[in-house]
Amino acid sequence: MQIEKNRVVALDYELFDADGPLIEKTEAPIEYLHGGYHGIFPLVEKALDGKRAGDRCRVRLNPEDAFGEYDAELVQVEPRDKFPDNLAVGMQFEGQAQGRHDALVYTVTDIAADKVVVDANHPLAGRTLDFSCAVAAVRAASAEEMSHGHVHGPAGHHH
Ligand SMILES: [Zn+2]
Repeated sequence: MQIEKNRVVALDYELFDADGPLIEKTEAPIEYLHGGYHGIFPLVEKALDGKRAGDRCRVRLNPEDAFGEYDAELVQVEPRDKFPDNLAVGMQFEGQAQGRHDALVYTVTDIAADKVVVDANHPLAGRTLDFSCAVAAVRAASAEEMSHGHVHGPAGHHH
């Protein structure tokens, strides 16, 4: 079966920094619904269009094709007393940036005596990545998956 709109694609992938190091790889294939449902990077979808189980692809993703450019405005310095006592680097908080409506997830990146630095950039923002993948399987999506716009796992419905 060929990959086209409304097929569920199972992929093994490795994600590399464009400079070489491996960032992450799948232990078991991940599944996504093909056809513009934002289940995977658009450039990867484009490269996979028409491929079949066993085929491979390798796609160079610039920041704007992946996790976005690093945005210095998403780094904020906040007073220490706005945070709980047990604060640690790496903790995440939901917050709103000025002039934006959507909530962002801020990660604590530095703690000083009376100030805390939080950063809402994705950890891979600003990085150029190489996405290398192999198609493990292709199947037709169910009517429910198509109407929801995402894959339902073997255990049935979960969100
Ligand atoms: Zn669903």
